[in-house]
This record gives sequence, C-alpha cells and structure tokens, in this order.
Amino acid sequence: MIAYAHPDDESFGLGGAIAKWVDAGVDVYLICATNGERGTVAPELLQGYNSIAELRLAELECAAQKLRLTEVFKLGYKDSGMMGSPTCEDSECLWQANVDEVTRRCVEIYREVQPHVVVTFNKYGGYGHPDHIAIQRAATKAFHLAGDANFVTGQPSYKPQKLYYSSIPKRQLQLGITMLRLRGIDPRKLGRNKDLDLVKILENVEPTHTNLDVSRYFTHWDEANQCHKSQLGGGPTWRMPLTLRRWFAPHQGFTRVVPAPAHNRVDETDLFAGVTVDARRQLQAAAD
Ligand SMILES: [Zn+2]
Repeated sequence: MIAYAHPDDESFGLGGAIAKWVDAGVDVYLICATNGERGTVAPELLQGYNSIAELRLAELECAAQKLRLTEVFKLGYKDSGMMGSPTCEDSECLWQANVDEVTRRCVEIYREVQPHVVVTFNKYGGYGHPDHIAIQRAATKAFHLAGDANFVTGQPSYKPQKLYYSSIPKRQLQLGITMLRLRGIDPRKLGRNKDLDLVKILENVEPTHTNLDVSRYFTHWDEANQCHKSQLGGGPTWRMPLTLRRWFAPHQGFTRVVPAPAHNRVDETDLFAGVTVDARRQLQAAAD
C-alpha cells in the first residue's frame, strides 16, 4: 500500500519499484490523496478535459494501467500547491484537511485491503510539499491505529507488518548536488518554479535501511512517467544513457520505520523481508 499525495508521485517517485513488485506477484495499491489541480499545465494539453483535475486523474489512470496497480483509492482533496502559496489556505485542500479525518480514511482503506507493507513519504514530504507532509502524517498515524480495536470503523482491526518512508540514498543526492554545481546550476533553486531545494532535501533525508535494485525496470518506469505528460516539465528527466543511469541510480531507497531498525545502515534489499503471509489469505488468493 503506497500512500502518496498527487497523481504522478507514484510514477516519478516509485515507478521502478512498483514495476519490480508487480513483476514479483505483489498486489500494489495506491492512495492518491489529491486531484493535482495545482500542477502547472500547458493549455494545449487541457483540450478534451473540463479541468486540470480531470486531466491529471486521467494521467493517473494511464500510469495505473502501465504499472498494473491493483487499485487506486482517490481521496479527492484539492492540491494545496507549494508551501506558503495562497492555495494552501483553500479550505478544501489537503493541507487544511483535518488530520484525524484523513487518518480515518486511511485506516478504512488499510482495513479493507489488509496490506502487509505500507509506504509513504518521509517527515519532510520528500521535498517539503505540504500535501506530501499531510499524507505522511495521516498514513503513519493510520498505520498504528488500523490494528487498534478501540478505533472503530465498523471493520475488523488489522495491523500491517511494516512501515517505510521512501528515501533517496544520501550519496546519490550529494553526487547530484556536486554535479549540478559543476555545471553552474544552483541546486537550491531547481524546477519550473525554482522552489526545489536539493540541499534542504539532503538535510532532511532520513537513514536508508533498504536498497531495492530497480535497474532492470527503468523502461517500465519511464513508460509510467510518460503518462504524466502535463507534469514532465517538473518531473525527473533522465537524459543520461541507460548504462550510466544504472551506475548512477540503480536503487530505490527506503527508511524502515516499523519494525524499528537496530542500526542506521542498509540491511535489506527487499521490503517484504520477514513478512509473514497468513495461510488463510494464501488459500483465498489461490481460490481467486
Ligand atoms: Zn507530489
């Protein structure tokens, strides 16, 4: 179960990992908390759509098919836009939503799907986006509450086994910052709106415990990214050859939150290490 904020987070952030999991037979579910309406969209791409939200949800649908997601749960909050912008004050945006309400919705989804593993953003929301921070808080609270029988939703309680934050290996970020500086690009002012600060992202990186090798899945990953045409200006652009990319960024990193690691070092290559699958559910899956 991936709990993320915008249509494109799943592809830009975890496309390679999702492709790998699905290939291994894992059912991957996605919570997408907002409709992405604050994304900047070229007017010609809006043709045939009534709104940015409609376009972005259609792009998500395309990516969900490419990545073969089992199901997408759209929470329907308004995109808050970047931190400090007036759109963050909109009463219908995720940043203004009551965290208990968002948490409850996540608990209901966890109890329905019964995922073994939950993945969300780190506490800084990856790069500080308010929606990423909001869904991180709710998804994390929900992880602990879903197994609490006193938290009543009319469903049986269910505790997922592991909780992770997606992370970027520190070395990869440091290397990226150095390379940008060498090319005369300010790593603190990246992206279309110059509000992406790699140095701040690095300062807020949490330890990586799991390095998932996604290097065989770059093609799949790129196909899913291509679905989010309206956002590609702000998304990752891989202009380097595949061999160099395999050397530079072969891994997707994760911070293990539950069970808490004894040491802050990489000790896993798979999120499902140690996960036990209930025999009853295995029989059910075989019958399906
Ligand atoms: Zn996002």
